[in-house]
Amino acid sequence: MKSRNHQQLTWGQPPRLSSEREVRRTPPCSVQFATVWLFVLVAAILPASAATWTINAGPTRLVNGAPVLFQVKPPTKLESLTGTWLTHQLTFSYDASTKTWFALAGVAFETTPGKYALELSAQPAAGKRPLIVTRTFTVAHFQYPQIKVELTVEKKFTEPNPEQLQQAEESKKIKQDYLSRVTPDREWDGNFAAPAEAAISDVYGSQRIFNGKAQREHQGLDFRVPTGTPVAAMNSGTVLLARFLYFEGNCVVIDHGQGLLTLYFHLSEFKVKEGDQVQRGQIVGLSGGTGRATGPHLHVAVRWQGTYLDPARLMQLPLP
Ligand SMILES: [Zn+2]
Repeated sequence: MKSRNHQQLTWGQPPRLSSEREVRRTPPCSVQFATVWLFVLVAAILPASAATWTINAGPTRLVNGAPVLFQVKPPTKLESLTGTWLTHQLTFSYDASTKTWFALAGVAFETTPGKYALELSAQPAAGKRPLIVTRTFTVAHFQYPQIKVELTVEKKFTEPNPEQLQQAEESKKIKQDYLSRVTPDREWDGNFAAPAEAAISDVYGSQRIFNGKAQREHQGLDFRVPTGTPVAAMNSGTVLLARFLYFEGNCVVIDHGQGLLTLYFHLSEFKVKEGDQVQRGQIVGLSGGTGRATGPHLHVAVRWQGTYLDPARLMQLPLP
């Protein structure tokens, strides 16, 4: 059985009598009769199915660059729940105590304001056909700080020689391979915590200029920490990467499941290795200034299925 939300049933609304021409175009009696029956049929189905699905997004105001938690309370017991949001696949986890399904997702920095559909596919008890439920959410535009950050880094980062270029290419391949992996099962549990207790030196979304050359917007959050400061995992997960990369320096990437990764750059020392299971607050490395950095600091990034989200917003988001 398919259930649809009210917003899509525009054809069920009475015709607009805005002009005489429209009135004269009244369809023949048989068509009118069929329309009435269709309307009665839909009215009979809707309150029992669509009305009992509770589908929420947190935060309630969605903007570009923001992580989002979708929570779904279905009217019947489900075996599994998956969804599609902004062309990404979502796999929901079940919380038995609240009978709620939930998935972490996000809105890319580049997403233009507008209405976007969350399409859910629910598998009820074995043998039954999947249910399709759709809800529309509005994404508003957020103006990130248009501070131009002018930075001076070693020339090898802006004008690499052939050998350095090859090193950068090798790092790029590693990133393309590892960072595109999606583990559907959730490993994160509860809120994401700050990786260090320190002042913020640069926010997500600001404009960067390295050695006079404009780069893309800042895709993470910078903490002002001296070399050797312990860096903590923001949530539970598995260490996906713990190695040196050309621009990122010594870099740790944690896979939290549901397509969500956290990244920690410019470290002076590793405290974990690839494949390790980590808990929120566990020290994964010591801060430093390795890779393309103007000096010691911690760059933290949040990546969801290939798109970088605002780490500050993720830390503010209340999670189950
Ligand atoms: Zn940074």
